[in-house]
Amino acid sequence: MTKYSDSTLYISLKNLKSNYSLIQKKLGKAEAAAVVKANAYGLGVKEAALALKKAGSKSFFVATLDEALELREILDKENIYVFHGIRQGQENDFKQFNLIPVLNTEEEIMRWQVFAGLHARALPAIIHVDTGMNRLGVKEDSLRKISEKTTPALDIKYIMSHLISADEKDAGKSKEQLKVFNRARKYFPNTPCSLANSSGIFRAKCYHFQMARPGCALYGVNPTPEKQNPVKPVVRLAARIIDIHNAKKAETVGYGGDFKAKKPVKVATIPVGYSDGYLRSFSNNSVVEIAGRKANVIGRVSMDLITIDVSDIPDNKVYVGAEVELINNNITVDVLAKKAGTIGYEILTSLGHRYKRVYVD
Ligand SMILES: *Cc1c(COP(=O)(O)O)cnc(C)c1O
Repeated sequence: MTKYSDSTLYISLKNLKSNYSLIQKKLGKAEAAAVVKANAYGLGVKEAALALKKAGSKSFFVATLDEALELREILDKENIYVFHGIRQGQENDFKQFNLIPVLNTEEEIMRWQVFAGLHARALPAIIHVDTGMNRLGVKEDSLRKISEKTTPALDIKYIMSHLISADEKDAGKSKEQLKVFNRARKYFPNTPCSLANSSGIFRAKCYHFQMARPGCALYGVNPTPEKQNPVKPVVRLAARIIDIHNAKKAETVGYGGDFKAKKPVKVATIPVGYSDGYLRSFSNNSVVEIAGRKANVIGRVSMDLITIDVSDIPDNKVYVGAEVELINNNITVDVLAKKAGTIGYEILTSLGHRYKRVYVD
């Protein structure tokens, strides 16, 4: 279907692949298994997964069975792991489509093992051990019990855990988790391990083990917020001016009259709003670029529109149809996240469905 949208999301598959390669290089012998949950962080799972496969990824992580089934139609041979585990009644789907559950509870582990016991071949799984997040996974002491109860019907590919603050300056919590992880994995001494997300990969070698699970860094979010971004930006968002107004001194702009002109202001209207993932918290609190010059978002972000102050932009650059950049190499996903008091992940996964999406290789 033709998309008439005035707004285009450019997704650089070239940079996505290059980010994967950088991460794989950083990991050395450890495998980089691409995390493509939530529609590849909002960028499009089909295009992203195929690009990542080209870049060398042989293993992929998604959150849910639905995501895994969708991904299986895109990738026929690669390993597909499912973070949220396996509900009762889903066992046949996992087996039939060759999906690998991350088992988060003792009940799940035993149920998948019993199911596996009824079949000729062992069935694969990852066992998730909770090292301090209290979100998913079995505790260290349950793992000991589990190690005594598991049979060869269960083909345990990895023991994994998840870091809660690998992106933070203070490495204390990561080190603590590493200590717990190192103790726990002794119950499965010959099983490979996986601990690091993007930030863990860039933190230190001791978090790499045999497989790491990069997500955000593939998509351009800085995994080392305290330092310069080691990965390349993947998204650019461009829209077009659809209307221009001249607000007189003391007039207001937008809902609620939140912005009041202290002097005459030239206002350009852009058809992107909070329903497109341009967060409402950007009201009076964000910038865009027109012909390389910054212009402030003024007034409240509406559902489908924003208004920007173009008073300082040369007249010949401001016209209906002129391109405006909302995300680019200067106004990055991380810059926007900071303005909104959120994280790059949320900016990416909020990107709406109305944009024309152009994949650039
Ligand atoms: C989402 C997720 C990842 C990827 O994390 P990033 O910070 O995006 O690299 C890795 N492991 C688990 C368990 C996750 O839920």
